[in-house]
Amino acid sequence: MANTIDLCPQCRGRLVPIGERTGGFSAKKAVIGTVVAGGAVGLAAGATGKQLVTLQCVKCGYIIETDAKTAKEATEFGEAFEQYCELQEQLRRQRCKLEIPHVKLVHQYGYGMNEFKYAGYVNRAKDREKIGIDIDAVEKEVAAARQKYDKKIQLLNTPDASEQRELSELRKKQQNLTKEKSQCEAELAALGFFKFAQKKAVQEKIASLSNELASVTEKKDQLDRIIQQQQEKWQAEERAEIIQIRSELVERCRVLAYEWMKENLPEEYHQFLSAVYSVLDDEGKDSEELHQLLDPETESMTTLQLSQRIGYFSNPYVSDCGQGFSFSLYFGADGARDRSMLQRLAQKEEREKAEKAAKIERYRKATEKLIKERYPEESASEREARVQRIVDSMIQTDTELENHS
Ligand SMILES: [Zn+2]
Repeated sequence: MANTIDLCPQCRGRLVPIGERTGGFSAKKAVIGTVVAGGAVGLAAGATGKQLVTLQCVKCGYIIETDAKTAKEATEFGEAFEQYCELQEQLRRQRCKLEIPHVKLVHQYGYGMNEFKYAGYVNRAKDREKIGIDIDAVEKEVAAARQKYDKKIQLLNTPDASEQRELSELRKKQQNLTKEKSQCEAELAALGFFKFAQKKAVQEKIASLSNELASVTEKKDQLDRIIQQQQEKWQAEERAEIIQIRSELVERCRVLAYEWMKENLPEEYHQFLSAVYSVLDDEGKDSEELHQLLDPETESMTTLQLSQRIGYFSNPYVSDCGQGFSFSLYFGADGARDRSMLQRLAQKEEREKAEKAAKIERYRKATEKLIKERYPEESASEREARVQRIVDSMIQTDTELENHS
């Protein structure tokens, strides 16, 4: 999926450069490169006389040879990743007693309240490229996995499934036995005093029906449980498969989010935001869930305070699928709010363009009429040139006025 090397393909350890050479064709190395870097890059590195760099995994010693650019990117990514892992480890130890600093509000830094809020959404396209993963392809794979399990679960629940047929037979049996039993009970009540022999026979029948009913009910409950367990097993498998499909995307976003924060956000927020990024995954988490994950004893701050602090600083690598005013953060493809935000921006631009075109048209019509009356002897092309000059100057004046107000 990735078109870059990030970490060791064997153990996800950090890669460091250990040597370089100007490569002639090396079939063996080309093959290694192909496996690691994806067909085109690997073959090119093996076949041409390019500068080749040998990378080695610091954990398991695995060696890869690749082109200089890919090697540089992998080395940089590895460094960021290692830094991040160290921080993760620190945070994991501190999490139960997370000190969330009583930070200043963002406007006290001289920022506008919305300065960071939409930064992520506006810069998205460029940043998505940096993730280096085909997000749409990942989501397609996720959709296919979902479909696969939905189908399995659906099949298990159709009336034609053997389990469902057995279940419905057991239900029928249960109903019949219940009916028969209540008939016997009515019969017994109708017998009144005496008729001991008859009563005894009916009582025995009721007892045997009760036993049978109990055993049918147990079988039915057992089958219900088996079907339920099978569904839960598939749901767990589905979740695990989706986590696996998205894992590389999530980890790359996590590291990039952390890097972006260090570069762009006030330092006082770093520890707090790092903690937030450390608990995010591929599924949306709202302020309530984040509060539970970060500060389970809810000693440091209220959910509202937490959500305010997060809300001030969007990050282009953190997506939001929250509804309305509430957020729900995750690492992955753009969330619903991003799309609507972008949509609104595009619509506004479209509207302004249309308004401007209509205004120019109005100016042109009025000017044409005036010029025709005033310069009747001029040719059509001369008049047209006059109209154009006047309209241009009107538009320019409008723009200057707009910029002043
Ligand atoms: Zn390794």
